[in-house]
Amino acid sequence: MSLPNVKLYHKAAVLASLLPIHQNKPPPQWVSIEQQWLQSQDIQTTLWTLPHLRANITKALPATLTTLKIWDDTRKLLCSCHPTPLSTPIKTLIHTIPDFNFRIWNRCGVFYIYSLLEKGELASFDYLKTAYTLPNTAYYSYLQLRSWWKTQIPHPIPQITTILTHFEKSIIADTPAVKPISTIYKLLLPQQGIKSLTCVRSWEKDLNQTLPEQTWLAAANATRGLTFCASHLETTRKNFYRWYMVPTRLATMDPQLSSTCWHCKQEAGTFLHIWWKCIKLQPYWKEVISLIHQHTSITIPNSPKALLLLMWDTEYPKPIKYLLLHILVAAQNLIAKNWLSPTNATMRELIRHLSQIGKFESNISRIPPNKSWRHEVWENWELKHPT
Ligand SMILES: [Zn+2]
Repeated sequence: MSLPNVKLYHKAAVLASLLPIHQNKPPPQWVSIEQQWLQSQDIQTTLWTLPHLRANITKALPATLTTLKIWDDTRKLLCSCHPTPLSTPIKTLIHTIPDFNFRIWNRCGVFYIYSLLEKGELASFDYLKTAYTLPNTAYYSYLQLRSWWKTQIPHPIPQITTILTHFEKSIIADTPAVKPISTIYKLLLPQQGIKSLTCVRSWEKDLNQTLPEQTWLAAANATRGLTFCASHLETTRKNFYRWYMVPTRLATMDPQLSSTCWHCKQEAGTFLHIWWKCIKLQPYWKEVISLIHQHTSITIPNSPKALLLLMWDTEYPKPIKYLLLHILVAAQNLIAKNWLSPTNATMRELIRHLSQIGKFESNISRIPPNKSWRHEVWENWELKHPT
């Protein structure tokens, strides 16, 4: 049964009440009542200022304090860019930029940080001047904004068209949001699906890149139907889920163990290092890339994304993709096989391993109902590498 989470729904209802104060019209009556108790600080500014930078709010009404607590606890889920969301109103910067003249910007229709963007970066003053008919006198505050921007906004902002959450879009839109409580409720719900997996979060951290759910789903299913031999796929599956106990992980479990890489004995043996980055392993990956090129005329990038997660930017014809996957899966297998060995597997070993797999796959693909084009791939392989 899909029962709503009442606690989250209550939070969503409280947060939805914050939307009207951002719209460019007279605020609801409760705002003036709560404002009196906040003393000098404007309610919108209080909201968007980080808790440790806020003015004293001890005299605020209990309703205000509850709203602020819910907002502070959920802000990261509601907004997508941190520490300063792009939906932050410009006027709230007066607490972080001394003597900042926000009025000059508001008068010209620039109300949110989002309006200052061009291609994921802070727009030039000339661009903003033309876009919003800003006066030349705004240049000093633009310089103040520019120096503040360098420390507060990630550089550059990726995927600018999708960076705002629905909550932020409702704030910026200046029109009443449609079903605001439901929109916020969905953002507050715990993340589900592949993006919520710890291994995906760790991979994204290693790749220094956030990838869409679809890309991860494709990677998780990249080897589906590749072979009848489940053990052949074991290493690749374990790699995706980061199952392997690498030195840094073992050292956190037992402090007496070294966290240094087993192969180079120089750097920390992180998952990425052990599987790709290690200076001792790089020649192996280069040879694998060269082998792939010999057989498919494709040069795949020397990156963990392409080699370990089997994510490529191009869609290849089926037989090429099939062989490419087999080579990479086999290459990963041999790394696991030589896990503690000081040397890498040679290309001769990799070819022999692939030839054995080829024989098995080739035989299977000739038998009805599994009959397919796959044996032709292995016949070509056999011609190049006769056994
Ligand atoms: Zn190493």
